[in-house]
Amino acid sequence: MERVYNFSPGPAVLPESVLREAQRDLLALPGVGVSVLEIGHRTKWFENVLETTKSNVRRLLDLPANYQVLFLQGGSRLQFSMIPMNLLPAGRAADYIVTGSWGQTALDEAQAQGEVRVAYSGKSTNFDRLPAAGEIKLNPAAAYVHYTSNETIQGVQFAAEPAVGDAPLVCDASSDFLSRPLAMRRYGLLYACAQKNAGPAGVTITIVRDDVLARANERVPTMLSYRQHAEHNSLLNTPPVFAVYVVMLVTRWLLEEIGGLTNMQAANDGKARLLYEVIDASNGFYRGHAKPDCRSAMNVTFRLPDDAVEEKFVSEAKARGLHYLKGHRSVGGIRASIYNAMPTAGVQALADFMREFRKKQ
Ligand SMILES: *Cc1c(COP(=O)(O)O)cnc(C)c1O
Repeated sequence: MERVYNFSPGPAVLPESVLREAQRDLLALPGVGVSVLEIGHRTKWFENVLETTKSNVRRLLDLPANYQVLFLQGGSRLQFSMIPMNLLPAGRAADYIVTGSWGQTALDEAQAQGEVRVAYSGKSTNFDRLPAAGEIKLNPAAAYVHYTSNETIQGVQFAAEPAVGDAPLVCDASSDFLSRPLAMRRYGLLYACAQKNAGPAGVTITIVRDDVLARANERVPTMLSYRQHAEHNSLLNTPPVFAVYVVMLVTRWLLEEIGGLTNMQAANDGKARLLYEVIDASNGFYRGHAKPDCRSAMNVTFRLPDDAVEEKFVSEAKARGLHYLKGHRSVGGIRASIYNAMPTAGVQALADFMREFRKKQ
């Protein structure tokens, strides 16, 4: 079976060494004799998987001891609701910095749970840029400030955390988690569904600081309570065993094969540069959606002269083994998702194709 280059925004490409190990373990775990799909979550084997995955995440992010790593279900979408349910008390308001479709959805979900304020919104220009310093209007009494480090649909990415004062900073890092080192001390809570950069669909990693956890509302359903999940070591109910196991393999790949997040970031920046260089040298044939200083290293979004040419681009790319390049309907055009596991060779093949395609038109 031939593997194509998978530019899907998520679920997305995984490292080949991870897939090979998972394939082996699908029949029988060495020394255990049952499949990774059959093994119980209260076994020594899974206890070890959970602890190793946590410790890998901690090592990769250089996570201080006063942060907990939780493995949750319901995707990032459920975090949009859990955050206000747990961290937004009655009589307080939360600030939202809205730089794309996911931030907008996070805001809409929070609105259903409590009082929210829009500290910044880039909606009027279809989220093609990030706020400049001074454009974020914060409420000094905010219960927390929520932002999205990388907007997967529009392809805009913060280079550094926004300055938000003393309120806990809450981040949806779904589509750039583990793609670069982070100043974790800046965060009150950070979450990411695994299926973009860290593993398969089915598990969401939430990292929360102890003082934020201590203030969390306890009067929420058990399965929606950060405190309950933390107290039960993410084993309140049957966890997504297979998904956590693959996150373990991916984090091990990052540590052992890549050599950590500084190396990963250098590789990711290099891959993104290959595509943005073609866009910038195309005399306007390829038009990037994101303003150049806000460009994402994970999701490269651009338009072509018209819909018909875009369709042609997608189908000719596919014939070359470059798959799932069609952009999201709210932006149109092309989106190349080039997460951690996308090899440079795949991005190079796309860059070469883009140059050739332009010449032919
Ligand atoms: C994919 C994505 C989500 C939604 O994740 P689900 O796991 O499908 O709920 C939320 N935020 C961002 C930034 C994403 O990329």
